[in-house]
Amino acid sequence: MSALDDLPPLREVIRRHDLSAKKSLGQNFLLDLNLTARIARAGGPLDGITVVEIGPGPGGLTRALIACGARRVIAVERDSRAIAALEEIAAHYPGRLTVVPGDALNVDLATCLDDGPARIVANLPYNIATALLVRWLATEPWPPWFDMMVLMFQREVAERIVATPGEKPYGRLAVLAGWRTHAKIMFDVAPSAFVPPPKVTSSVVRLVPRAAPLPCTRSTLERVTAAAFGQRRKMLRQSLRALGVDPALLLAATGIDGAVRAEEIPVEGFVALANALDAASTPSQDGAGEGKPA
Ligand code: SAM
Repeated sequence: MSALDDLPPLREVIRRHDLSAKKSLGQNFLLDLNLTARIARAGGPLDGITVVEIGPGPGGLTRALIACGARRVIAVERDSRAIAALEEIAAHYPGRLTVVPGDALNVDLATCLDDGPARIVANLPYNIATALLVRWLATEPWPPWFDMMVLMFQREVAERIVATPGEKPYGRLAVLAGWRTHAKIMFDVAPSAFVPPPKVTSSVVRLVPRAAPLPCTRSTLERVTAAAFGQRRKMLRQSLRALGVDPALLLAATGIDGAVRAEEIPVEGFVALANALDAASTPSQDGAGEGKPA
């Protein structure tokens, strides 16, 4: 692809705005227009959709999102050097790009939105990628304000998101992601596609929110997976002790074998354990605190 738009080439934008990549901001820029368009379209057509992009940098993916039909892009960027470059794109596409200077960890994205479907698409800064994902997966209420997330991670993180029971990367992140979304690795991106190239391969992951995840309290589910995977080599009847409730009660209530390890338990099993923990922690009507440790 020779050009998505008639804006200046990204290399020129980077040079003009002195956007030499900063490692501290996780800056690995994408300059390949075929690749940015492929990422923009990885979740399907963008027509009529408001896209939230975290870390637009010089704006390669931003330009692809707009050129591929996004109704509007809201782009949150922490690097003040990039803001002027992004404002040039905003001027080129009146009303279609809103640049939000600041730290994505402190911006309440939902308040930036207007009506209509919204999607998160980003080549995330790797140092905060998992923290951002966990935050989006913890959105309340659920279903969330976004119809989909299309996110670039280091391959190792992507594997932890989509892992299934019995696989080595299966852990807390896979349970949370699997509980609330259908997550899939769409394609890998070689280090050579970035400027500067990172040390490892990256992957684009698509996460589609489940309309109705199995019912349970998210914070309880997170407590259960923290206990179970906190000692992942131990059997559940041992690791679940960290919850402060007799594991035998939880195991009996769910029919789960106490001799298995966390890595073998599917999402439904953790949801059942979370519900059993809530039930065991709720005082019975006579206030006896049934199920609480002695
Ligand atoms: N989207 C651009 C691309 O694909 O070429 C840049 C991606 S680069 C991997 C990550 C971007 O996130 C950088 O522009 C960096 O400045 C920005 N960034 C880093 N930390 C951030 C934060 N806390 N909030 C918002 N943006 C951040």
